[in-house]
Amino acid sequence: MTPVAPGSVIGILGGGQLGRMLANAAQRLGFDVDIYCPEDDPPAARVARHHWKGAYDNKALLTEFAEACAVITLEFENIPVIAADVIEATGHHLYPGAKSLAVSQDRAEEKAFLNDIGIATADYRVINSDHDIAKALPELGGTGLLKPRRDGYDGKGQAWVRSPDDIAAAWAGVGAAPCVLEAPVPFEREISVIVARSSRGETATWAPPQNMHRDGILATSTVPSGLPLDVEQAAREKAIALVDALGHVGVLALELFVLPDGGLLANEFAPRVHNSGHWTPEACQTGQFEQHIRAICGWPLGDTRRLFDAEMENLIGEAGNVDPATLAPGDVLTLYGKHEARPGRKMGHITRRLAPRKA
Ligand code: AMP
Repeated sequence: MTPVAPGSVIGILGGGQLGRMLANAAQRLGFDVDIYCPEDDPPAARVARHHWKGAYDNKALLTEFAEACAVITLEFENIPVIAADVIEATGHHLYPGAKSLAVSQDRAEEKAFLNDIGIATADYRVINSDHDIAKALPELGGTGLLKPRRDGYDGKGQAWVRSPDDIAAAWAGVGAAPCVLEAPVPFEREISVIVARSSRGETATWAPPQNMHRDGILATSTVPSGLPLDVEQAAREKAIALVDALGHVGVLALELFVLPDGGLLANEFAPRVHNSGHWTPEACQTGQFEQHIRAICGWPLGDTRRLFDAEMENLIGEAGNVDPATLAPGDVLTLYGKHEARPGRKMGHITRRLAPRKA
């Protein structure tokens, strides 16, 4: 593909903070950015050239939007796969493409795909009824985590089933929707690999951060992870195998559980820039947002070398009302421009550069 030239318009599906940070990075490289999403006045639209306000299944508006852009990407993977078809029909590329979207939108497909390419996950069963849970529970050792196949994020709508007595409430709790039941993973820590693959097939990974969650939401990501280098290397190789198998173009995040013996199990992946990679612009030669733009534009990928030890802390809810006077000199603050600090809402993050990286 001919590289997309600076001055061209990049279209982004989704108007949240990821779109805003992608737009910032694209603008620094000389691109203009249009945002397509159904919301009024979203964070990304306020830094964009134009906001196309429409539903993700509005074929006519999506077509018009796509025709106005040189290349289209997304910051939100739960768009109908039909939107990808509508955009491809205009002759303009949507990166990542339909395969990455279809696989990541369905937890059952996602796990099957990962296992098929040799990336292990927790043992799991596909669930279509409360009877399926009753059958699967003893097969998984008597305890399981019920997760809806679709539309779940930040641990929302998930329920632990610890005995047959829990089945009815858990099944009602997920709205009797198709699910997977996962065996509990006795993980020692959680990490993620942020990986980029360009439209030219070039790949690059960043050092995997250790991720800590609070109430099912990412709280901090820290590098170095503290893991032996061979474990980090194995994690990076899995992420590269995944983007190659998907033919993915852009950034992708693979979330992994690290077992006490250093073994790795994949939890899930997001086919986009990711919260656990928010420290990369401040701590690395090239950050995930710039890299995503390079990847979808057919540019050479940037150097992912890490320059600092760093910790990224999410500012959730009221924590987003930061007093700038409290920031330390090494703190880099990013706020997303959201108008209202609701509980559980990601309002911004701080990346703390802890120290220059030791060799
Ligand atoms: P998810 O929505 O799949 O990202 O899960 C949210 C969080 O729940 C993960 O980051 C883990 O901390 C925890 N979790 C998810 N699946 C499992 C599992 N099978 N066993 C233990 N903890 C889990």
